[in-house]
Amino acid sequence: MQPDYPAQPQAPKGLTWQCINGCGACCRLDPGERPEALEALDAEEQELYLSMVGADGWCRHYDTGGQRCNIYDSRPRFCRVSNLARIFAVPEAEANGFAIACCRQQIRSEHGGRGRVLRRFERALRQPPSPSPD
Ligand code: SF4
Ligand code: SF4
Repeated sequence: MQPDYPAQPQAPKGLTWQCINGCGACCRLDPGERPEALEALDAEEQELYLSMVGADGWCRHYDTGGQRCNIYDSRPRFCRVSNLARIFAVPEAEANGFAIACCRQQIRSEHGGRGRVLRRFERALRQPPSPSPD
């Protein structure tokens, strides 16, 4: 079954998904907050996901001070936004809108719906795509 995450993955016209520096919202893995993320994974990846959750709910590989991933080049498949649509069984044509909706949801949850991080993300969506989109 396809998890309901996020509720309405629209594909906004003229917006191109890209990650921004100093966010890290998707590295908060607490399964109590993200049950749909865990549900979408196969058994092996669920085990890996759960092994990565730290006591504070953040990924053990996330440097909260530096706001960066310590294993970025070898991070798991489910950390790569380019794989998100496949994991959640979203059609390729909706992948961009789905990634945008997922990030908005995570950013609102971790940084607030009126905060600087969300505003930076919204601005980035209007820029040309960055060379490394995952
Ligand atoms: S939530 Fe989106 S913008 Fe923020 S770090 Fe994750 S992929 Fe990047
Ligand atoms: S492995 Fe890296 S990208 Fe994946 S959740 Fe952990 S800190 Fe974030």
